[in-house]
Amino acid sequence: MDADAKDREGAPDWRLKVSPRARRVTLRLSMAEGLCVVVPRGFDARRAPAIVAERADWIARHMARMTARYGRAPGVPPSLPGGLDLRACGEIWPLDVCPGPGRPRLVQNAGRLLLAGAEEAEARRELLLGFLRRRAAAVLPPLLRELAAAAGERVGAVTVRNQKTRWASCSSRGTINCNCRLLFLPPGLTRYVLLHELAHLRHMDHSPAFWGRVAELDPDWRGHERELGRAGPLVPPFLA
Ligand SMILES: [Zn+2]
Repeated sequence: MDADAKDREGAPDWRLKVSPRARRVTLRLSMAEGLCVVVPRGFDARRAPAIVAERADWIARHMARMTARYGRAPGVPPSLPGGLDLRACGEIWPLDVCPGPGRPRLVQNAGRLLLAGAEEAEARRELLLGFLRRRAAAVLPPLLRELAAAAGERVGAVTVRNQKTRWASCSSRGTINCNCRLLFLPPGLTRYVLLHELAHLRHMDHSPAFWGRVAELDPDWRGHERELGRAGPLVPPFLA
């Protein structure tokens, strides 16, 4: 259950959430919802502002950290990017937004994308994500199979998904899943992620033998691994 977002001078916006599972009051900060005060049933809502005020330092510190990390404040809907820079395949798709009547739709024309129709943030995000998935499905599986052939590996099924935390994964059946966000990485880094998964076809762990195989496939794997750790901001915030 949501109470209305509170707007008090000097304090961050927050909302009250009553959770039947909550045993005590907790503060929860998420990109999707911002600051929530989660309380057990029967909690006296009048006590909430004081709790928020008491934890103001903690809230400010974490808000600042998340804002720096995701490029927007928690709870604020992400703005649309000015375009999609698909570094992995060298494509730049400028994005024009043209609000108007009718359902939201994405039009692809002469190397540009046009978002037309109603301003429904979630629908627009889905449309852009759909475009990204289609490009990823066209680009990543053939690239993976090409790298596999060069490495002398046999790949099973290749799937493309949108995942929040993993760039790619490999199942014990040899199915490799590629995250469509890989398109935002520079080509060398995308290639490294795919080679890493190919190495998992022989070693399903991160043992020394696995890293030995990675080193055979990509001698610069250490540099790529480091670079990958810093690559998060290359993914536009609307996907975060
Ligand atoms: Zn791995």
